[in-house]
Amino acid sequence: MKQPTRFKLEARPHIPESLNRLAELSNDLFYSWDHEARSLYARIDPVLWRQVEHNPKLFLRRVAQHRLNEVSEDRAFLAEYRRILSAYDAYLDAAPGPEITDRLDPQNALVAYFCAEFGFHESFPIYSGGLGILAGDHCKAASDLAMPFVAVGLLYQQGYFIQSIDAQGQQIARYRSHFSEDLPISRVMSDGKPLQVSVPFPGRTVYAQAWEARVGHIRLYLLDTHVAENSSADRELTLQLYGGDETTRISQEMLLGIGGTRVLRALGLEPTAWHINEGHAAFQILERCSSLVQAGLDFEAAIEATAASTLFTTHTPVAAGHDIFPRELLLTMLGEYLDSAGLNAAQVFDLGATSAGDAFNMTTLGLRGSRFHNGVSRIHGGVASRMEGGIWPQIPAEENPIGYITNGVHVPTFLAPEWSSLFDIQAPTWRSELRNPAFWQFVDRVPDYHFWSIHKALKQQMGDYVARHLSRQHRRNGTGHSVTERMTRDLISQEKDLLVVGFARRFATYKRATLIFSDLERLQRLLNDPERPVLLIFAGKAHPKDRPGQQLIKVIHDLSMRPEFIGRVILLENYDQAMARRLLSGVDVWLNNPEYPKEASGTSGEKAALNGALNLSVLDGWWAEGYDGTNGWAITPRDLSHDQEFRNQEEARDLLDLLEFEVAPLYYDRLSQGYSKHWVRRSKAAMKTIIPRFNSQRMVMDYVEKYYEPATRQASRFTSDNGRLATELARWKRRISQHWDGVSLSVVGEVQMQCLHDCEMTVKVAAQLNGLRPEDVRVECLVAPGNAGPEEQEIPESFILAFDEDKDGLSLFSLVMSPPFPGLQILTLRAYPYHDGLSHPLEMGYMVWV
Ligand SMILES: *Cc1c(COP(=O)(O)O)cnc(C)c1O
Repeated sequence: MKQPTRFKLEARPHIPESLNRLAELSNDLFYSWDHEARSLYARIDPVLWRQVEHNPKLFLRRVAQHRLNEVSEDRAFLAEYRRILSAYDAYLDAAPGPEITDRLDPQNALVAYFCAEFGFHESFPIYSGGLGILAGDHCKAASDLAMPFVAVGLLYQQGYFIQSIDAQGQQIARYRSHFSEDLPISRVMSDGKPLQVSVPFPGRTVYAQAWEARVGHIRLYLLDTHVAENSSADRELTLQLYGGDETTRISQEMLLGIGGTRVLRALGLEPTAWHINEGHAAFQILERCSSLVQAGLDFEAAIEATAASTLFTTHTPVAAGHDIFPRELLLTMLGEYLDSAGLNAAQVFDLGATSAGDAFNMTTLGLRGSRFHNGVSRIHGGVASRMEGGIWPQIPAEENPIGYITNGVHVPTFLAPEWSSLFDIQAPTWRSELRNPAFWQFVDRVPDYHFWSIHKALKQQMGDYVARHLSRQHRRNGTGHSVTERMTRDLISQEKDLLVVGFARRFATYKRATLIFSDLERLQRLLNDPERPVLLIFAGKAHPKDRPGQQLIKVIHDLSMRPEFIGRVILLENYDQAMARRLLSGVDVWLNNPEYPKEASGTSGEKAALNGALNLSVLDGWWAEGYDGTNGWAITPRDLSHDQEFRNQEEARDLLDLLEFEVAPLYYDRLSQGYSKHWVRRSKAAMKTIIPRFNSQRMVMDYVEKYYEPATRQASRFTSDNGRLATELARWKRRISQHWDGVSLSVVGEVQMQCLHDCEMTVKVAAQLNGLRPEDVRVECLVAPGNAGPEEQEIPESFILAFDEDKDGLSLFSLVMSPPFPGLQILTLRAYPYHDGLSHPLEMGYMVWV
């Protein structure tokens, strides 16, 4: 029998005049962090609000006319509506503070931020995980700071996949098309027509249209190829995030980097600092070079000018996170573009060539095409410096130009409304004190019972949410009702108030989701302890091509269905930002146990901590900086010299030991008041130590101070006078490269071995400069303290030697200094090329030592 065709008809309401700004609010991602704005929609029709997955635009199209009419005459509602809109207006009216204007003059400076994914809110599903959420948080903080800032990304019609987990524990990936009219975006128009840009592709031109998303003070521009001018295959290039094959990936990256830069140009925007957030967007370097080449610079000068205003951030040491394209593919895909751009394919290939020379690494392009680079935590900065050290071959990894800025999260987005209401009463100015640790001591003044009652309310909400979600999931899978009921019975029981541990993130193997199951018998006993039961909640997606990641899901699924783990291990499907907010604000403990040192930063633990949850995590990424002994628990990673198997075993035992002997006893140390005072003390410590250090305003201000301001300064030096400095620097670098091989240093006479603490000693060095001039190099004496213990990492003092004279074909340099440290100290002498136009003193990667 033929199934009937179902025609969809949407009867749209007319929005009453008195509520007309609801539409405006639905088109500004302001709602993604302002829960009061979202609460307006929820109040009109809570059931529909949930059905449309918190999507304000869709909500306004589907809400019943009579509900709108009712609330438009409801005084209480109208008062709330006006209050929230005037808060919105006040937000938009706020001007940037001196911390911004002193560094980035809004008249002249503009930061452009490129990323392949942006995660603002579940209603705008163009993200897959941490990277996207981080990019969203970066934009939100830039808006809060009213920075001169613009972001660029791609609009994926289907976004990332929707996950179901079936009765066998298989992950099913489904894609759903999103219509632009459902998303918080508007088409960018130019001369009354939709703005389009084009990018040369092999044998054809691909067109992309541009969309604008408002994010409070700032704008995000998104490109997609779903336009009539394209073939049907090209229309699908931007269909899915991280979908398709290698060719799809490189095509998307061409659209993002080249097309994205063209959109900014078409809009008349002239960024002064360009932030490439992960390798996906690195082709923008080529497009910017091409403009300069067409303006008359040679390729090397164009690279200098481009790189000097560019920051590249790398986000993972894991190989799968770096795009590496075969040489053939790259040259085929870019061939026509490079011809039209006036760029030489061999020169371009060299910028990203891997050491074997047969492939092109987008991270390498990013690093060679930028002069500012960073990793995303202290540990990751070090790991990235070593991984990428080959780019600066003669520079010790710890000194190469890769620095770090530790990731932070957007507090208004991830802090539960219950906590922000409390802060509003206790410390009303908290929103402007996000970089002031002393201010956050106020958390201690909150009475313990009050603090706990908020946590408990949030935990209850989370329990209800999990129960709802899980019963839907298992009803579909045909699980018996009584089983589903037992799964969540203890979770939602007010009296039991179980210790709940959460673990949710992408199921990538290095995150070791199943580590806690290493000793099933012990875990079983621990979770079912009659005095101190523990419940684990898991959620996360595995990339559709990541078989081992999907296997982890199956393992957890199967365990969660075993009788001894029912009601103690819960696996939820389709992790997204809405679920993240629920879990992170409701659990007692947030678990993270990645393989050290692969968790570049991690951010979910930061979100948990700002809601008072306690982290139980491996000292990797941000937690290695955040943990202070009072605000959670730490698993110390085993030395990398052991094999992985052994490290897993040992770290799993630590994890279970902590859970059994510290976490559970502390949690259940509750007296008659029904909660544990010691637990509350730790929870408060987590909030007050972590909120002011690991939030996105602190992070973005670090970017401003460390990178955006210097890049902007370099931009103005390099663009003035038709790029004279760029041309001069490129020529200078070429000369240095031709001569450096013959440069050497030697000591003249001897370096003194003993002196009085306040003596003045002279150090003399003779340099064979092989045709370079004395002003082309810096000769430096480093003095490191020799008494420091192994734990201490004292920074050496650096002294620059002055040029004295040329003699017998050698250049003589000298220094008079007093010993900077008491007692023993170690002197080393070295030289490296130096030019005033360099963005980083060691950027050439050359160095010789005595
Ligand atoms: C924060 C967040 C992540 C990142 O989690 P990590 O544990 O840092 O990997 C992933 N997905 C969502 C939905 C998030 O909110």
